[in-house]
Amino acid sequence: MPRRIVIAGGGYVGLYTALRLQKRLARGEAEVVVVNPENFMVYRPLLPEVASGTLEPRHAVVPLRAVLRRTRFVAGSLTSVDTERKVVSVEPTAGPPIDLEYDELVLGMGAMAKLAPVEGLAESGIGFNSLAEAAHLRDHVLRQLEIASATNDPELRRCALTFVFVGGGYTGVEAIAELQDMAHDVLAGYPRLEASEMRWVLVEALDRILTTVSEDLAERAATELTARGIDLRLGTQLESAEGGLLKLSDGSKFRASTLVWVAGTRPQTVVGKLGLATDERGRLVVDETLRLEGQDHIWAAGDCAAVPDLESGGVCPPTAQHAVRQATQLGDNLVATLRGERPQPFRYRSRGEFVTLGKNKAVGEAFGRKFDGVLAWTARRAYYASQIPTINRKIRVLGDWLVGMPFGHDVVDFGSREEPRGAFEEAAGKRGP
Ligand SMILES: Cc1cc2nc3c(=O)[nH]c(=O)nc-3n(C[C@H](O)[C@H](O)[C@H](O)COP(=O)(O)OP(=O)(O)OC[C@H]3O[C@@H](n4cnc5c(N)ncnc54)[C@H](O)[C@@H]3O)c2cc1C
Repeated sequence: MPRRIVIAGGGYVGLYTALRLQKRLARGEAEVVVVNPENFMVYRPLLPEVASGTLEPRHAVVPLRAVLRRTRFVAGSLTSVDTERKVVSVEPTAGPPIDLEYDELVLGMGAMAKLAPVEGLAESGIGFNSLAEAAHLRDHVLRQLEIASATNDPELRRCALTFVFVGGGYTGVEAIAELQDMAHDVLAGYPRLEASEMRWVLVEALDRILTTVSEDLAERAATELTARGIDLRLGTQLESAEGGLLKLSDGSKFRASTLVWVAGTRPQTVVGKLGLATDERGRLVVDETLRLEGQDHIWAAGDCAAVPDLESGGVCPPTAQHAVRQATQLGDNLVATLRGERPQPFRYRSRGEFVTLGKNKAVGEAFGRKFDGVLAWTARRAYYASQIPTINRKIRVLGDWLVGMPFGHDVVDFGSREEPRGAFEEAAGKRGP
């Protein structure tokens, strides 16, 4: 019987660990099973461009079944681990739970939004972590322009044209920058709206944005955003969002139809329910070979794990570039373990980071050099085009980018697809027009 490696999570860790195993395992040496709720891996660094409509949502994902030809795929979510029997329980998309035995188990379930105890936030806000959220936000922003353009109610118009993002890390900055760029780009098609009526607010509790890049680059990004009319509220917190009325710690109060919460992430809730070793932030505790504390046959990496950073000290940051390298090392360590060899420590020094600020605009640093403007924007695109797996996806992404150059952003709001049964229910007399 070949041994079985079960991988929970089909994101960066899951996909790249499975790819490594596909490459290194001999035929029949082990069976690899990937469990993920959806049959695709989301290329999250491209989500801001999905939100601005620069990329088609389908082009920013990697179809797992197409790339993992020698791996068994199970659509579902891991819900529990029995470490004695070496069995995981999986909740499939439909039907009763499935038990899967494992010889080695990899946990790469990633992270979710970490909410602060702000009144009204859960009801009024939305995160920016998934494909659905990014695609929804694009349609939502365009719908707000339609609402503002159609209404004669000044209060509704002001509320629709107010877009608030909380969190000035790279996710928040990229999201607000791309969406604001899109909204300005399409405004020519809305003769009843003025650019000056739109209010874009970025709220950050610290006294600077982008703490993961150097101060100088973060300053350049802040200057670019401010010059474009984005209202940066540094050293400020969202205190309440009850009924859509936002109250900030600087004393300001206003209504906004859009509240995006991008102020931090935490491991998926299920991680804390598995009875495995976690740190004070809920991350799985692993050693430098990515093996879970106190477990010989469980491994973890990526955003759900606290991976020791042997280069810079502390714990590795939750980034895709770290997750990919951890996955490759993890794949090698699994092969070594199956063959009775010693797993090796994970070691990686970040090569830099790029932050998109909209079309032709970005900041970044790589190999000790700093870039901004078109050069940084082009370097970022070249990097992601080279990284996204399969020639099929590369061409689709490059195609979207190419088409976007002369034509700009598309103004079509496809929000109705979020309610596909509406017309049918109306036809059946179950709801009004
Ligand atoms: C908007 C955005 C922009 C980003 N930009 C950058 C960037 O520019 N550069 C960079 O380096 N990093 C970036 N990141 C961070 C990067 O995407 C993450 O660090 C990376 O995705 C972590 O990989 P992972 O495999 O741990 O988690 P993920 O890639 O999130 O994958 C986790 C997978 O596990 C699945 N899952 C969840 N629960 C279960 C369960 N119970 N059972 C089975 N599967 C489960 C999820 O559905 C998901 O498919 C960005 C993140 C976001 C959200």
